[in-house]
Amino acid sequence: MQKEYAETGNIQNLLSQIGAGLDQYLKFEHKDALHPESRWRDALDIALPQQGVGIGKVTEELVNQIIPNGSAITKPGFSSFITTGPASAATLAATAANIAAPQRYTLNAFNFLEELSMQWLASMCRISHMQGIYSSGGSVANLLALGAARQFAFEKIGQDVAANGMDSPTCLYASEEAHHTIQRAAGVLGIGRRSVRKIACDNQGRMRVGELQRAITADKQSGVLPIAIVANAGTTNTGAIDPLQQIGEIAKQHDLWFHVDGAYGLPGILDERISHLYQGLELADSVIVDPHKWLGASVGVAATFVRDRQLLYRAFTQEPADYLEGAMEQEASSPGVIAHSQDDFGIPYYDYGVELSAPCRGVIVWALIREIGVEGMTQRIRRHRDMASYIAKVARAHPNLELLNEPTLSICCFRYVGPNIVDLNLFNQRLHRRLIRENENLPSTTQIRGQLALRPCFIGARTHQEHADALLDDVLRIGKEMENE
Ligand SMILES: *Cc1c(COP(=O)(O)O)cnc(C)c1O
Repeated sequence: MQKEYAETGNIQNLLSQIGAGLDQYLKFEHKDALHPESRWRDALDIALPQQGVGIGKVTEELVNQIIPNGSAITKPGFSSFITTGPASAATLAATAANIAAPQRYTLNAFNFLEELSMQWLASMCRISHMQGIYSSGGSVANLLALGAARQFAFEKIGQDVAANGMDSPTCLYASEEAHHTIQRAAGVLGIGRRSVRKIACDNQGRMRVGELQRAITADKQSGVLPIAIVANAGTTNTGAIDPLQQIGEIAKQHDLWFHVDGAYGLPGILDERISHLYQGLELADSVIVDPHKWLGASVGVAATFVRDRQLLYRAFTQEPADYLEGAMEQEASSPGVIAHSQDDFGIPYYDYGVELSAPCRGVIVWALIREIGVEGMTQRIRRHRDMASYIAKVARAHPNLELLNEPTLSICCFRYVGPNIVDLNLFNQRLHRRLIRENENLPSTTQIRGQLALRPCFIGARTHQEHADALLDDVLRIGKEMENE
């Protein structure tokens, strides 16, 4: 006898069970998922089930086996990479959208907030003259911006490259510290990964503008069509901000598209102590920021801003399709006819980017800003920057620490040193592995001028000064232990 499966279950009840499991997770008392004592794999690794177990058992397995063995990323001491657990407001909004608005099209409250939150975000980051579109992350956000740049460059020579393809050699300029998603975008757009001119940086990781000028001049002489200049507002490695004003002026001088990758660092503009470093941002033709980095959104939320979304439309439209447009009320509603949200697509984001089906992301950004305001965001940015400066200050003064890079944003690169350590790179590599095994404070590493650096990046909404102190304590303790071994 086959049993009948029906969609059942009371969301409030089920979510409260998941909520209890998540609160337990947020105490961060469990061991790492790959700890030798963990048994979840035995419980989860079963063959394809022919019979279902029901929503109650699914909930139980989520709470007992899966959530406690999740990622270390949400831990407040996690400072590897530029990724973090979402703030609670983001989780709530994402859950609400997941049920109440599973798509970002049709004009409803969620579609409305998609646009409103984008304007808030632009205004908060001081680019309120720009229009935006959300996408899944900095990778796609950069792709959309550079797609607009490519469209712009070809329209100038009378070609619609998105419609007809391209046959001229092209290139773009980015610093050697630019994120590798720039070169991937160049690959996808037919510019070619090898056609990204990697402009050298100064010893603070900022693009050398003289080198940029030289590269552009050389390309113009050889008949290559330059597509864009990409500047960093916060490099992934060290948080360096390129000289935006100078680069923007060079772009104008050559009538070139000026793109600013602020995936991580754009919110740094909220801290008045460094907002002058963003001077020149107003010259940008496109800007990206990842709310899922410093703003605490759940992963899958990035924003691309351009001056005029019509350019994005020309670059990315899928062109009208019967199954979409035919489903709408075409005539303006006559008097007395009650409009229905199904009769209006709302803002057609699906024509400004590469996704048709996509979640409502704006409500997440709306919730984050609504909860703590620009003031709260500013406090958080300042706090994380202060933590990086604090590590730098201690590292400068302590005989067993060496500062390798003066922090700009919330990344600090430093290492452990001692007179008897023969190979500092190897020593710090091992120290880092031990730090990670302890599973409390988890920075990443990077190379600074060939020197292996410990690299905490503080961005978590749950991350505070005590975590900077704890990291330093751990590094000094482990370093001493290792020296005495
Ligand atoms: C993180 C990052 C990206 C890529 O963003 P994802 O959201 O991980 O796809 C691009 N550029 C910079 C500067 C970044 O820090």
